[in-house]
Amino acid sequence: MTQDTLKINGDRLWKSLMELAQIGATPKGGVKRLALTDLDKQGRDLVTGWARQAGMSVTVDQIGNVFMRRDGKNNALPPIMSGSHIDTQPTGGKFDGNYGVLAALEVVRTLNDHKIQTEAPIEVAFWTNEEGSRFVPVMMGSGVFCGAFTLEHAYAAKDTEGKSVKDELSRIGYLGEQVPGDHPIGAYFETHIEQGPVLEDADKVIGVVPAVMGLSWYDCVVTGMEAHAGPTPMHLRKDALQVATKIMQEVVNIGNRYPPYGRGTVGMVQVFPNSRNVIPGEVKFSIDLRNVNDELLNKMHEEILAFVDQTSKATGLGVTVERVSYYPPCPFHPECVDAVRSATAKLGYSTMDVVSGAGHDAIYAARLAPAGMIFVPCKDGISHNEIEDAKSEHLEAGCNVLLHAMLDRAKIVS
Ligand SMILES: [Zn+2]
Repeated sequence: MTQDTLKINGDRLWKSLMELAQIGATPKGGVKRLALTDLDKQGRDLVTGWARQAGMSVTVDQIGNVFMRRDGKNNALPPIMSGSHIDTQPTGGKFDGNYGVLAALEVVRTLNDHKIQTEAPIEVAFWTNEEGSRFVPVMMGSGVFCGAFTLEHAYAAKDTEGKSVKDELSRIGYLGEQVPGDHPIGAYFETHIEQGPVLEDADKVIGVVPAVMGLSWYDCVVTGMEAHAGPTPMHLRKDALQVATKIMQEVVNIGNRYPPYGRGTVGMVQVFPNSRNVIPGEVKFSIDLRNVNDELLNKMHEEILAFVDQTSKATGLGVTVERVSYYPPCPFHPECVDAVRSATAKLGYSTMDVVSGAGHDAIYAARLAPAGMIFVPCKDGISHNEIEDAKSEHLEAGCNVLLHAMLDRAKIVS
């Protein structure tokens, strides 16, 4: 077999995915393996056990990120890394995150099968608490690693029962010693199910990911006056909901004004007092604006603020809008994007560019090293759901692309 036709073992990848999915398996076919629970420990133990069997050494850092290393010829070089997360949502699926970790492990197993030595070391990583459902913030492990927030901030996070990240890390035996970030990375790749419907809709196998969308989140409050729905004539009302719906519609209009990557969503609404025969006196709602281009995202930001101001003046009702979160778009490194693109072309898979609308550990890794992502389709674009599903041949294809993209960076010695 020449290097160009080297392929991973798709059956082995699938079997490992199914075995890991047994830990925390739900009756509906999904997985519930929340970060730093006993089940997370079992999942971590299984994956690190597989890594040791594959001859890798295992390092754990102080936030519980795990790095599994296969030496290269020149171990002074920073490792070519790939990984993702193995924690899940409470009603999560088998593939979100898990695929990225096990695909990276499969790359190492394949290199072992063919006795291939690389110039740079190869590392497989899983990052602590990517999902953020038990502990906030999300993408905790990779966030601490890249310095987006401090270790102390992460340690102090508590679940709804008051258990802290530090105590739970220690309890499950994954409170490591390495200082987060004190660990060079030569390049970082992450394979992931798309978590959206674009690839499936276009009937393509591999998504090359040039960037992850940026987002702006807001809390908006409209204040009117509660009054009886019968005796109060229409022209004498201060109906907070009627004003709120104008703004909500504008959020969607803004998303529509910036195709193809503009997004505008109102996902959370609270109406007070929420009574059938009372004119709403107050409405609180969320606004989520996204774009892959920071300049356009900023325009969207200014447009919603201007619209709110104008609507407040025109109606005489008070409206406040506060930005509560902002992540700029994250373009991936051209060299990593190219490595993914050329590996896909070499292997002959159908492909298109897909911008990620969801957050990933790769965003934080990209702050420290050249990074890139590979997407494969998932059924109906659904994830964060027990019915999440993906085809074995697509997972295999994505893993083959990962293999060749990593080899492009790690360089084969023999
Ligand atoms: Zn994920």
